[in-house]
This record gives sequence, C-alpha cells and structure tokens, in this order.
Amino acid sequence: MPMPASAPTPGVLGIDIGGTKVALRIEPSGADGGPGGGADVAPVESSFPWTPAASVPRDLADLTDGVAALRARWNGPLTAVGVAMPATVDPAGRVTTWPGRPSWTGLDFGAAMRGLVPGARVAHADDGDLAALAEAAAADCPDLVYLGIGTGVGGGLVLAGRPCPRPGHGSAEIGHMLISVTGAVCTCGRRGCVQATASGPATLRRAAAYRAATTTGVNEPDGGGGGEPAGVPFAELRAGWLAEAGWAVRAVRESAQAAAVAVVSLTEVLHPRLAVVGGGFADGLPGFAATVDEQARVLGRPGHPPAPVQAAVLGGLSSLSGALLLARQAD
Ligand SMILES: [Zn+2]
Repeated sequence: MPMPASAPTPGVLGIDIGGTKVALRIEPSGADGGPGGGADVAPVESSFPWTPAASVPRDLADLTDGVAALRARWNGPLTAVGVAMPATVDPAGRVTTWPGRPSWTGLDFGAAMRGLVPGARVAHADDGDLAALAEAAAADCPDLVYLGIGTGVGGGLVLAGRPCPRPGHGSAEIGHMLISVTGAVCTCGRRGCVQATASGPATLRRAAAYRAATTTGVNEPDGGGGGEPAGVPFAELRAGWLAEAGWAVRAVRESAQAAAVAVVSLTEVLHPRLAVVGGGFADGLPGFAATVDEQARVLGRPGHPPAPVQAAVLGGLSSLSGALLLARQAD
C-alpha cells in the first residue's frame, strides 16, 4: 500500500441483504475526488451466509457482527450506509412482506438499519431497484429494465436515469408481473407471476419433472401429488444445459421465455432502450441472457422490436453496487 496506514479515510458502507447471504463493502466516500480523497484507499468487503429460518434478533445480531468485523478493517468514520433489501418495505420503513423470512414482517427496518452504524446517514431501497440503477450506470443507459433471477425474480426499472416508480411509491415488482392466469403458483400465492416460472427453484423443479419423465416414461408430474416436488441440483441443471440435454434445455428455455414475456410487455409500455438479465441463477447458466433475447425477438410485434437483452455487466454484484450508489446519494 503506498498510503500511510495511519491516514483515516471517510467511507460509505453498502449492504446487500439477499435471501441466503449478506454482502458488505466499504469504499472511500471521496473516491470521486470529493473531500477526503481516498482514491488510493482500497475498498474492503465481506459476506456471510444467512442462517435459514432464523429469528429477527439472531439476524440482526449476525448483521451487527458482520458490520463490526468489516469496520475493524477500515480506518476512518462511516458517513453513509446504503442497504439493498428484497423484502417489501412500506414508506414508513416497516417490513410488510418477506416470504423468505416471515419473522421480519412488521419490523421497523429503517430503525434497525440506523442502529447498525449510529451517526451515519442510512438509506434503503429494494434490491432490484438498486441493481437496475447500478446496471444503468454501468451500461451508461438511462432507460433500462433489469431482471435479477435467483431464489425469486427481482428487478427494477430506470427511466430518464431515475428509478421507476419514484422513491416512496413502492418498487418495480417485475417478478410478480402476471404472464398467465393459468400458470404455475407463485410464492405470493397467486398463479401466473413471472417468478413462478422463471425463478431458480421453479426451473429446477420443472427440470426434475422433465428429466424423470425422460428416464421413466411416466407422465410429467406437475406438482399434482402431495408436497412440493424436489428440484434437480443446480450443478446438474447447468451440466445438462451445457450438454444440451432435452430436459434441461426445455426447463431453461421456458424460464427464458417467461423473462422475455416480461421484457416484451415492459417494452410496449415503457420503451426501455436495454434489458439486462442478471442474478445468481442466470449468471450461472452461460447463454441465458442470449436465450431471453432470442425469445424476445420471437415475441416482438411486427415493426416494434423489444429492447435488446444483455447479460448484467455487474453480475451478482449489481445490488451491492446499487447500495453503494444509494449510500453516496445519502452522503
Ligand atoms: Zn407472485
């Protein structure tokens, strides 16, 4: 390191709270040439897994420990914190729904986050909205739709360089856009959401059913029996997709088509210039974004081509990058 270790540098903290892990990163708050400089100071980052089905006190203790451990590696005050969050949070800052962690329902999220770094400005927003903002900045594209495909389907819209809907008016719930009234059942309880077809777990379950049908000749079980059918492990789906196994290609193409329906419908209404597909599940399947693009071309209306679809530039880091952008705006 060329800089003396003793020079304190003001920093901003980004927190990306995911369904299964939390990612943290501190960057110099003056990295863009602002007061305090900091361009030569390397960011620090860490992540830790979320214990499944833990309680709110346990989750908050894990978060507090994670932030404390990262702060110990940063020499200087934290001036602002940006938090990316998958739960639905009302304008007052209270969690209204989080299917992945029902115990958080009713939590005063804003207050809990402010308690993590006393004295710092804290802002939070939907992880899909923030990922869209970060991808728009990375692509230098002010009109963009982002789909993040993982445990669920998140997403966001940026129009004229700003998040849509505007802050305080909810988030872009692209995962719950209806694409069929008779489609698969979503985690929200309704039928036909994009996420019910395109999410990682939904794809893995269909892949298991298609693979079982090809090996046993039995009709495709479509969840008609008791309980939730198990999915194939992701590594097996990926291997099947790369080897062009029929069951894997069919399952993945159906997910790509569901994402393409969302892109085409959003193009009709909002005319984004670019659609970006990211999220852990999509990132893990080479060519997934290209398959969504291919399906979108098929679904386009004559004379009105849908927005081109590309893979996310920031990969799995788009929500965290968006959280840092939010922190800088709050700073
Ligand atoms: Zn839904």
